[in-house]
Amino acid sequence: MTTKNNANRYVGRLAPSPTGLLHVGHAATFWAAHERAREYNGRLLLRNEDLDPQRSKVEFVEAMVEDLAWLGIEWEPPMISQSERRELYRAAFERLLEAGFVYPCRCSRKDLARMMHAPHEDVDDELVYDGRCRPAGEALSRSLVPEMNYRFRVSDGEVVRFVDGDVGAQNFTARVDFGDFLVWRKDGLPSYQLACVVDDAAMGITEVVRGTDLLKSTARQILLQRALGLGGVEYFHTRLMVDEHGVRLAKRHDALAIRTLREHGLSREDVLAMAG
Ligand code: GLU
Repeated sequence: MTTKNNANRYVGRLAPSPTGLLHVGHAATFWAAHERAREYNGRLLLRNEDLDPQRSKVEFVEAMVEDLAWLGIEWEPPMISQSERRELYRAAFERLLEAGFVYPCRCSRKDLARMMHAPHEDVDDELVYDGRCRPAGEALSRSLVPEMNYRFRVSDGEVVRFVDGDVGAQNFTARVDFGDFLVWRKDGLPSYQLACVVDDAAMGITEVVRGTDLLKSTARQILLQRALGLGGVEYFHTRLMVDEHGVRLAKRHDALAIRTLREHGLSREDVLAMAG
């Protein structure tokens, strides 16, 4: 448990994906992360989540560093880039495979799209996989099939509980709120869930501050932490900003990119007030 008296013990992180410009929603989350780290007299690290070579752009990395500085959100260098840490993720994947937690999945994108029927499905989230490639027996094969997606087999009905520092007690049920989830992609990249868990542990993160859109991801990440024997992390999920129509700001970065607002003459204080 992180305590305020335990100076230097708190380690937080900012984890933007350089797939677009930072917007006001990011400013809100990152400002909260900055404030939490300050409150605990802790450290705040920056992790550049640039795993996906198709979607990540160097100009967005530069822009995010600049926007953070403009907002007055200080972080401790060096910036850590996920694209440089692939061996770490691969080693974790192999541990999961050897310990029998994962299985290969042959479903194509089309198969998966067809499964996307559940009306309650959050479109940003991974669908609840119906388990069609899940092996029938208890034991999972531990041998590697190359160029294959791999999924983590959840225990159906298991309830993952955690107490969030902001939104309180949470519980999510395996196979209801999330299904067997992707840990490794056939193109040789880890999934977001796996990379995040590996990095949070390797970076010594004590508290993850992020938006409530990632609550179900947290449940999956807790299962991965347990499977990999990694220490737990505390969580603080900030409420998401919505516009006057209830649309999440993350969907509208066009008008609300921090630099657009800045170009329109808004000050740092104005942007933080919008974010706050
Ligand atoms: N890169 C993720 C995002 O921008 C952040 C995930 C996290 O905080 O774990 O949504």
